[in-house]
Amino acid sequence: KTGAPLLSVQNLDVKYGAVHAVSGVSFEVRAGEIVGLIGPNGAGKTTVIDAVTGFAPATGAVLLDGKDVSDLRPYRLSRRGLGRSFQDVELYDDLSVVENVTVGAARGHESSAVAVSERVRTVLDTVGLGEVADAEVSTLSQGRRQLVSVARVLVSSPKVALLDEPAAGLDSSESRWLGDRLRAARDAGTSILLVDHDMELVLTICDRVVVLDLGRVIACGTPEEVRSDEAVISAYLGLP
Ligand code: ATP
Repeated sequence: KTGAPLLSVQNLDVKYGAVHAVSGVSFEVRAGEIVGLIGPNGAGKTTVIDAVTGFAPATGAVLLDGKDVSDLRPYRLSRRGLGRSFQDVELYDDLSVVENVTVGAARGHESSAVAVSERVRTVLDTVGLGEVADAEVSTLSQGRRQLVSVARVLVSSPKVALLDEPAAGLDSSESRWLGDRLRAARDAGTSILLVDHDMELVLTICDRVVVLDLGRVIACGTPEEVRSDEAVISAYLGLP
């Protein structure tokens, strides 16, 4: 079901002064995959996303669809098909769901207003927000708010969407719902790199999982392989 590498991260390295936040990280996201990026607090997950999307200074290489995009600025990467969401959801509370998602569509894509509006509706249906499309965002549950920010990424039709903790603050039923919606998005053609602390979500919906600890990849494989990996188990031991 999966295909060629869409996103290839090679030997990524990020230093913040004396802090070596990411060391020699390599992994791929192939067409049709949801890849999980997990690890204990401070492991470097957000830094990897920041480096890949041009928000953090890094060495190494990032290839999107086989082309080197390592030195591109964030907005150019977004035009090339690399979408991302941020850890803290920033939505326009007094605007509707449609309006919030349209903000994402307006970025970088030169389409007619009608085409944008159709695209927004399609994405809202994919993530299950069709029924609340015209509701003000302030009236939504936390789970639905997170979905609005996911929809805002998907609406630019990224080849790969990098999602930073979309399940933060969700209860287990909201998180399962989000998982189903992310699978629907993948099946509709968007490959996903998913950073999240919700292990059940990650191990349930991901095709492959990359595990970071102290800035390095300590394991990579199917959810089953990663779950039983000694290095992974010991990295997580002692966590609350
Ligand atoms: P969490 O799960 O807590 O979000 P994470 O795996 O996303 O953690 P990062 O936020 O990427 O981890 O942080 C990795 C390391 O880099 C940490 O030691 C962190 O303190 C450090 N770090 C991150 N951003 C900066 C920055 N802007 N300046 C200095 N150090 C930073």
